[in-house]
Parts: sequence; structure tokens; C-alpha cells
Amino acid sequence: MMNDLNPGDLGRRAEAMLEELAAISAEPDRLVRLFLSPEHRRAADLVAQWMREIGLDVFEDEIGNVRGRIGKPPYLVLGSHIDTVIDAGRYDGPLGVVAPILAVDTLQRMKQLPPIGLELVAFGDEEGSRFHSTLPSSAALAGHFDPRHLTITDRDGVSFADALRAYGKNPDKIPEGAIPPGDAAGYVEVHIEQGPVLETEDQPLGVVSAIVGQTRLQMTITGESGHAGTVPMNLRRDALAGAAEMTLLAEQIARDFSSDHMVATVGQIEARPGAANIVPGVVRFTLDLRTASDAARSTAIERFEHEARAIAERRHLGFAVDPIHRIATTPADQALQDQLASAALAVGAKPLKLASGAGHDGLMMSKLCPIAMLFVRCKAGVSHNPAEYASPQDMGFAIAALVRFIEQFKPSASR
Ligand SMILES: [Zn+2]
Repeated sequence: MMNDLNPGDLGRRAEAMLEELAAISAEPDRLVRLFLSPEHRRAADLVAQWMREIGLDVFEDEIGNVRGRIGKPPYLVLGSHIDTVIDAGRYDGPLGVVAPILAVDTLQRMKQLPPIGLELVAFGDEEGSRFHSTLPSSAALAGHFDPRHLTITDRDGVSFADALRAYGKNPDKIPEGAIPPGDAAGYVEVHIEQGPVLETEDQPLGVVSAIVGQTRLQMTITGESGHAGTVPMNLRRDALAGAAEMTLLAEQIARDFSSDHMVATVGQIEARPGAANIVPGVVRFTLDLRTASDAARSTAIERFEHEARAIAERRHLGFAVDPIHRIATTPADQALQDQLASAALAVGAKPLKLASGAGHDGLMMSKLCPIAMLFVRCKAGVSHNPAEYASPQDMGFAIAALVRFIEQFKPSASR
């Protein structure tokens, strides 16, 4: 029955499609495809064309998700995102859009398409690169779109709502695109691992046990700016020196929680007034802290806030902390994990179980239906970088496993 499944062939087809998508960029020398941009339009049109070619009923909702359906609800929803970070690789997102297209095409050709409803989706905004938004596209599909997103502005001052209108959408109608509860049987996403575990373990595929929770905070440290030549060290209230100490504190805390695989990152810092000859008076920086244990995460955050405040007091600095977001750990559905694992085994891969340290659309989709993810080995664990790479053979294994998974899909009984 599955004799005509050829991972090498499927992988080469995926690679060709990913190359076509990767050519759609706002810049000639690097891949930049932002939400609701002209490049988003072109990529969405290409994906819609591919979906039509395999016989799906294709439409776009009012937040710009490309959606292709076959059969009746409840739908098994399969997809990923087509937006990118700035200077992106070509696999993060698009692989999860292309894989189900090739899987459904394969099932059609084999005349093995099971009598279940399928919805393939290409989300428009997962990375949040344009609006610093949090998964608005999948939130809309899951019926949990937060209208406060509409007022966020991009670097050029264009609001989310105006960008949608310019894209030909009606922001007021976003809720109408949601899949009604009960009409989604599950959400499954194929994605590159974005980490080195599969490569280290020499396995092409992984089944995700959970998407780790994360807390993101923004700190504002207030000191006093002054002349870099005339203010003596003992009279300084240097906001940047304080922030530096807090950054090292965050690093130490994550190391202390190594058994929870905690990671902490200060990835954004801004010192004002920002001149070489002025003591920094105000510093803003972010902390992003993730781990699969929600309890460990909140303990770590409490400790950070407590000790950072002590640093600020000792240095006579003001300290304010604003939560940007807190996302609980999202477990993947056990029955879907088991089905993905046996599908992977059936095509000759020995799937590893691993947690996802990156956030994904599954976070939002889990509010609607059971979710699961299939990870594909990527070179050196590199992502969000032009050096991102997954081999055609590994992608082919993932697509072949997806074929098997769809063919044998049984809705989870857990909801
Ligand atoms: Zn992604």
C-alpha cells in the first residue's frame, strides 16, 4: 500500500517548493518576508495555487491566512507559517506548509485519501517580526484573536489594522474566520527542530512532547546621566552598569535551574541618552525565560525580580518591570504524539521525544483542539539564520510520516 512512498523523492519536491518560496523576499540579498507585505501577498498566492493544484477548496480569511479544505468537518488542521524573521532561513515555517501539501498530493495519487476532513493552513504572522505581535494568525483561527493587536504599530507607524486594510482585509471580520469549537479534530505542524538534539542523536525526526512556557519581561532602570569625564565613580548612578549586573544574574539563575533545561536571554537593550561620553541615565532591556516546568519558571522569575531589585537598591537606581507576556507550557496531545511516532516508525525513522524551546502556532491552536508537532533535524540546530538547513532526505521522511499519519488518523478521545 505504501510502496510508492519515496522519502528521497518527496524531499526533493519539498526542496524545490521551498526554493520557490525563498525567492520571494523584500530584499535581494537576504530573506525578509514580513506579515501583510507585498512579499506576503506573493507567497500567499503561490501557496494558494499549490493548494488548488491538489484539489483543495482554497480561501483566505480576514487576517490573511491561506486555507485549503477537503472533506467535511471536523478537520484535521495541518500547517505552519509563511512569514519570516529578518535575514531568515528558508525552512522555518514554509516546511510545515509544503509538507502537508505534498502529503495530501501523495495520498490523492495513491487514491488513499482517508474520509476525514482536512484543512491546510499557511499562517501569515508567527514570528511577530513586523508588529511584535504574539501569534495573532493562529489565535484568529482558534477563535482567540485579541483585538488589542489591531492598535500595535510597526517601525513605520503603520497600525496592524491599517496594514490589514491595505492588504484588502476587514479587521472587524477576523472573528468570522475562526474554526468553530468541535470543527477541529486536531492540529499538527511539521517544523525544523531549531535545536541540535536530533542531529546529536543522529535521528531525522522528533515528536514534540510540549512547547515550553515562557515569560518575557521588560525592565526599565533609571539612574542619572552625566558627563563621562567629570562625574566621579562613587557618585554615579549608571543605569547600564546595573542592567549589566542584572543580565549576569539572569544567566546565573538559568544555570541554577539546568535540570529543568531553563534558558534565559537578555536580547534587547537600549541605553539612553546613548552617547560614548555620557553616563547612561535610563536603560531598557528584555528578559526572555523559558522552561517546560511552569513551577520552575515562576520560581526563577520571582528570584530574578527580587535580586534585580536588590541590585537596583544597592546602586541607587530605579527599577520597574513590565510583563510583556507569560505563556504556560503547552503539552502536546498524547494520542496524537503516539500516532505521529508510529507513523514515523512506519517509514523507517526512530522518532525521538523532545520539548520545543521555541514558541509555535500550536500554542494558540491548543485552545481549540489537541495539538502535536513533528520536528525535522536541522543542521547544527541553526535557525533564524540564512545557514538554516534541513536535508531533502530528512524532509522526505517527515512528509512520508505525515502521509502515514493522515492515512491512519484517529481523532483523539481526550477532548
Ligand atoms: Zn517557525
